[in-house]
Amino acid sequence: MGWKTLDDMDLNGKRVLVRVDINVPVADGKVTDDTRIQRITPTVRDILAAGGRPILLAHFGRPGGERKAELSLQQLVPALEAAFDCPVMFAADCVGAGAAAAAEALKEGEVLLLENTRFHAAETKNDADLAAGMAALGDIYCNDAFSAAHRAHASTEALARLLPACAGRLMQAELQALEAALAKPERPVTAVVGGAKVSTKLDLLSNLIEKVDHLVIGGGMANTFLLAQGHAIGSSLAEASLTDTASEILTKAKAAGCEIILPSDIVVARKFEANAPHEVLPADACPDDAMILDAGPASVARIAEVFANSKTLIWNGPLGAFEMEPFDAATNAAALKAAELTRAGTLISVAGGGDTVAALNASGAAADFSYISTAGGAFLEWMEGKTLPGVAALEQ
Ligand code: AMP
Repeated sequence: MGWKTLDDMDLNGKRVLVRVDINVPVADGKVTDDTRIQRITPTVRDILAAGGRPILLAHFGRPGGERKAELSLQQLVPALEAAFDCPVMFAADCVGAGAAAAAEALKEGEVLLLENTRFHAAETKNDADLAAGMAALGDIYCNDAFSAAHRAHASTEALARLLPACAGRLMQAELQALEAALAKPERPVTAVVGGAKVSTKLDLLSNLIEKVDHLVIGGGMANTFLLAQGHAIGSSLAEASLTDTASEILTKAKAAGCEIILPSDIVVARKFEANAPHEVLPADACPDDAMILDAGPASVARIAEVFANSKTLIWNGPLGAFEMEPFDAATNAAALKAAELTRAGTLISVAGGGDTVAALNASGAAADFSYISTAGGAFLEWMEGKTLPGVAALEQ
């Protein structure tokens, strides 16, 4: 860990520029899911408790460098006040004289929210002048937006280099969980990678086979591997052009000592819809007119056995078409097994990625996982072994 936390900083009387992710869903001016606001609340409260004055920097939607009334952060002020339980001031720009006056006027016990950083086209260009304008408003920089850390933007990267910088509580929790899962894990380590396509997860697979002991491949992407092994897959979702790549991954995994676990049995249906008539078949017996929509019970039993023999689990992507019953069965059963082992204290379980969080929530297993990342792209890039610019800038 080459980065500092709030505990390493003297916050008393300081203006702390906090980069947060409050890109929450809003309907009719009201926040419909405040999860992201809840997740940054410990950071804001800790800064206030230490006598610091939090000044929040955030993006909201994709205004493309233009001022757009519907993407103003001002509409989030009531939700932020409710979560932080303190007054939240608002400045109509994230740099300039108005923002400076608001930062200057900020009193102890208050929070200042600055307008959408992406109203400036310079934000997404990691522009040094914009970052300098932001830096002028505070004494300390705190990045609590892990989910935006895969992007080198002025408020996530350049700014971190201009002020004493640290990670906020959410960023700290994310990084500690990820380091425990992949950088310095307790072995054996198992990864689950599922989802629709191999093509979107090639970098991920290549990185994981070098790092983990067992790799469970599920979902639509497993079909491409079954095809590569010469199995008929009927009308299943697959990328026939990637069978050579899939074979290469299997060969490299073997050389790296990583066991790849593909479905040994499959749940097939004739229609891609909930409750479509279905049957369980061996993985090499998909009829021509059927499609594979989930892994079967024997596969789940094998996955459960692998989990039971593992100390660390990292999970991205569902094992089947989990939005449709009963094709959520393998994902649910495997998730519940991971939850049970985590509760028993024998497994560290970390999961992330948009669909993964939805699938684990639906299975009822999420609460028992050691850590569920709220970040989508950043979590995936971290699992791919890439350097996240927002984290690297904190490590200087
Ligand atoms: P991803 O966004 O790559 O994580 O993929 C998640 C999507 O893959 C979900 O919408 C699943 O329904 C879908 N999926 C998983 N398994 C299958 C499958 N066997 N056939 C078709 N779609 C699937």
